[in-house]
Amino acid sequence: MTSKAKKSWTIDDAAALYGIRDWGGGFFDLAENGDVTVKARFNGKEVAVSLMEIVAGIEERGHGMPVLLRVENLLDARIALLNETFRAAIAKAGYRGEYRGVFPVKVNQQAHVIEEIIRFGAPYGHGLEAGSKAELVLALAALHEDALLICNGYKDQEFIDLGLWARKLGYRCFFVIESPSELPIILERSRALGIRPLIGARVKVSAKVGGLWTETSGDRSSFGLSTTQLIAVVDTLKSEGMLDTLQLLHCHLGSQIPDIQDIRIGVQEACRYYADLVREGAPMAYLDLGGGLAVDYMGARANHVHSQNYSLDEYCSDIVEVVMTTLDPQEIAHPHIVTESGRATVAYASMLLFNVLDVMHFEAAPLPEAPPEGAHELVKNLFAVMGNLAAADLQESYNDALYYRDEIRDLFKRGQVNLRERSLAENVFLSIAQHIAARLDALAKIPTGLSDLRESLADIYYGNFSVFQSLPDTWAIGQVFPVVPLHRHDERPTREGIISDLTCDCDGKLDAFIAGSGERKTLPLHPLRPEEEYYLGVFLMGAYQETLGDLHNLFGDTHVISVRINENGGFDVIKEISGDTIADVLSYVEYNPQTLFDGFRDTAEAAVRKGKITVGERQRILEDFSASLRGYTYYER
Ligand SMILES: *Cc1c(COP(=O)(O)O)cnc(C)c1O
Repeated sequence: MTSKAKKSWTIDDAAALYGIRDWGGGFFDLAENGDVTVKARFNGKEVAVSLMEIVAGIEERGHGMPVLLRVENLLDARIALLNETFRAAIAKAGYRGEYRGVFPVKVNQQAHVIEEIIRFGAPYGHGLEAGSKAELVLALAALHEDALLICNGYKDQEFIDLGLWARKLGYRCFFVIESPSELPIILERSRALGIRPLIGARVKVSAKVGGLWTETSGDRSSFGLSTTQLIAVVDTLKSEGMLDTLQLLHCHLGSQIPDIQDIRIGVQEACRYYADLVREGAPMAYLDLGGGLAVDYMGARANHVHSQNYSLDEYCSDIVEVVMTTLDPQEIAHPHIVTESGRATVAYASMLLFNVLDVMHFEAAPLPEAPPEGAHELVKNLFAVMGNLAAADLQESYNDALYYRDEIRDLFKRGQVNLRERSLAENVFLSIAQHIAARLDALAKIPTGLSDLRESLADIYYGNFSVFQSLPDTWAIGQVFPVVPLHRHDERPTREGIISDLTCDCDGKLDAFIAGSGERKTLPLHPLRPEEEYYLGVFLMGAYQETLGDLHNLFGDTHVISVRINENGGFDVIKEISGDTIADVLSYVEYNPQTLFDGFRDTAEAAVRKGKITVGERQRILEDFSASLRGYTYYER
């Protein structure tokens, strides 16, 4: 690259291209040397650490890529921000209830994440939401009594007994009734154990919200009570003399709600339910608005499934305002506001870091000016199209070239054109396609027949990771995460590519990206350099990805490294969890690694007997086999 080309590219250009300052939540930026940095604040002073330095530190400690990196400071900062922002909104509005956040365990159940949330959330009384017995068990073991513990999900007798004992121990454990069948068991177990429960009622809010999770809201939502069922619950509690246990109203509009207007309408409806439960005589105290606070994966601040058209400030102050303006005229006391923000709490703190193993280019090899002597008529036609490109209509040239190429392919199948002829034709076609693609930018309007041409010529970068293990939502629900090179941002990225993972599955790829305020099908990338690793990061992936992942092609858990940025501009490694070994993943699918080894040793011994290998070779082969069993499931350099 000439120095002039280099000068015309700045760090700010790179930051804008990848949108890092838009989606980064103030946590990510670029350094002058071109590295991505992660930032933390200490008493107002900002410290930035290069992710490349963290990668080097991880590799020096013996962990190869890919790695799931957690930066604890980011989790702490998000919990503090959520609580402080609600507190500020409450103070500003003169609201007379408190904010009591809970973290929904299903969003990231990893012990270290939950520990950190509990530890850092303690001063705010940040609690947990459990949706299953297993989640309740881990919550009880971790939580302190004054924090809320909200139990959603289907509850059997065992679940209920455990929650009732928790009440006796002093936990503020609420059973949220999701279906009418739960109440009789709760009442029966409460009588049997002599413990009074705390009860919440989950209602279906009829307002439909936009985004990927519209199913969670509306009449057909599988969770929550209908109005008829809610009245039946109230009547049963009254007749059992238990109405005093009903203290919480719960609703959950869905996850990643992009439009603040939907949130306002949902909260308003929830307040109507709340007010009427108060009038029914229940000593209501908590209004639980569930999750839904979005993460702006695109950084577009827009009403788009991967974005949000509101800030955290707006979210908090709008909720406080809507609750006040709905309840005040009815002279209903202000409830404590509970939210169950999962995604917005943990997304920022985790990122997947991986190296690129190889690139496939779709580029023509050097071509002769004219068709070689004796070339096939169709090949000559292709050369003619190429020679005429400057003067001809682009769409027409492309159609012609495509026609001749497909004819050649047909003839090849019928044995009338040989491999060298077909290869030449393919190469000329590629060259024509590239020329056309290069000229599309100059057109006022790209012809519809050519709209996918650039994507079809994009490079494929092979990443050392598995989409199915580490980023399942990209495959399952079309989630888009920001993907950014970790370094070389002082250099203009001259390639366009998609990223393919290690699995032998055509769904194992990243081919939807974020650009400015929209989506794009290819990502600007740097050309690989010989003898130098190229590292990429997938950001904002701390929510939902860690346990939804599967073992496709038996790629196992990645290494997980937790670091904490320190005041001196360095970082401390807090926790290292080695990823699955090959023996680990084989045992998950019911193989016994020892049996496998024994079987292979028998094969090797038989080969010695037959004289195929020596005893020395047998030893080396067995050592390699057993090293493989102990090895990482990903590509190791
Ligand atoms: C999944 C879930 C949440 C978390 O929602 P986010 O959008 O991630 O904040 C909260 N509450 C309930 C009941 C849920 O099912």
